[in-house]
Amino acid sequence: MSTKTHYDVIILGAGAAGLFCAIEAGQRGRRVMVIDHAAKPAEKVRISGGGRCNFTNLHAAPDNFVSGNPHFCKSALSRFTQYDFLERVEARGISWHEKTLGQLFCDNTSRDIVDLLVVGAKAQGAEIWLNSDVNTVSRDGAGYRVETYVGSYTCASLVLATGGLSIPKMGATGLAYDIARQFGLNIIEPRAGLVPFTFHENALEPIKALAGVGVQARASCNGMSFDEGALFTHRGLSGPAILQISSYWRDGDDVVIDLALGEDVFGKLKALRGESPKQILSNALATVLPKRLAAQIGQETFGDMRMADLSDAKLQSIAARVHEWRIRPDGTEGWRTAEVTLGGVDTAELSSRTMEASKAPGLYVIGEAVDVTGWLGGFNFQWAWSSAWAAGQVV
Ligand SMILES: Cc1cc2nc3c(=O)[nH]c(=O)nc-3n(C[C@H](O)[C@H](O)[C@H](O)COP(=O)(O)OP(=O)(O)OC[C@H]3O[C@@H](n4cnc5c(N)ncnc54)[C@H](O)[C@@H]3O)c2cc1C
Repeated sequence: MSTKTHYDVIILGAGAAGLFCAIEAGQRGRRVMVIDHAAKPAEKVRISGGGRCNFTNLHAAPDNFVSGNPHFCKSALSRFTQYDFLERVEARGISWHEKTLGQLFCDNTSRDIVDLLVVGAKAQGAEIWLNSDVNTVSRDGAGYRVETYVGSYTCASLVLATGGLSIPKMGATGLAYDIARQFGLNIIEPRAGLVPFTFHENALEPIKALAGVGVQARASCNGMSFDEGALFTHRGLSGPAILQISSYWRDGDDVVIDLALGEDVFGKLKALRGESPKQILSNALATVLPKRLAAQIGQETFGDMRMADLSDAKLQSIAARVHEWRIRPDGTEGWRTAEVTLGGVDTAELSSRTMEASKAPGLYVIGEAVDVTGWLGGFNFQWAWSSAWAAGQVV
């Protein structure tokens, strides 16, 4: 552990936000210590984006975030943008590519971004203490005192960057919420976001039977819609469209899924009825849907009737089953697989310009610990960079 006992800035959490804040504060000449209980820094960055880290999104804008106050993220996002982060990536010589929908990934591995953060923070003089559990945090004069099992440290600014509750196996804890509560800050109840849906046994059976089938879909719930892939799995529904809509879903809500996005199923079936009247329904449906899904919907609606025997009304009802499949998830896979945590430290408690808590001067909250949650596609890292940058200019 450190021989120093006082720092200008102590940052709890050596993840995306904590390390980026250390770079910014270090650049200003601040003496920075970063404390993390994990054995390695930035583990979520390392595993992110399938190992290639979707580090930002070219289209990042406030609309891509879920928050109790949709205006809160505007200031930080506009002062440190996706282009600003891209500049840092390029300055380090990291090669990257746009995959789809503005999502930027490393050409090589996410290790490039981990190095940008760790090497960058150390180059600015920040000390990074790993395997270090935080015991207690208290006020100390105008600043704060952090007690760990191996030492007691004081600082003028304390930054909470320990993220949310997603994936406890990777060391996620509610430390930021506990400390925030200790200083009187309100917490918006954390919920799992960007997470697959699960179903009761009866509803799960037909879904399970389609495990491995994927479609281009539109998933809608509570006035939001996402057009991306959806995937049937042994446990329920997954894929980008499902993960996205899960962040807008609440217990008991229905989700409506268009299983053949961009197709006119009624028009297609009607045309096929004229062209091949002896064709059975499942085969006709297989022209717009994967074969197994077509067979299941065929069986579920009008068995294996011939197209000639299906009225317009019947074709309409089949089309509605495809374009407006209404399901009610039983729940989600929860913290075990959620990519993010919705909720967190209430934005009403923080300055949108600096991330400082109004009730606790010198205390800052950044990254996923704050009630600002991005869509899938690089938005969560952009929030980590932008909020960390905002705090990094003033801590
Ligand atoms: C599988 C997966 C893939 C993802 N892929 C992407 C992607 O490609 N693009 C994207 O934008 N987002 C992605 N995300 C989301 C993104 O990883 C997070 O939003 C982002 O890492 C949040 O940054 P953070 O610094 O706030 O928190 P984190 O990166 O989670 O860092 C928090 C740090 O705090 C430490 N910590 C926690 N509790 C304690 C404690 N009690 N004491 C000490 N230290 C503690 C942790 O060990 C960790 O190092 C992904 C998430 C997951 C789970």
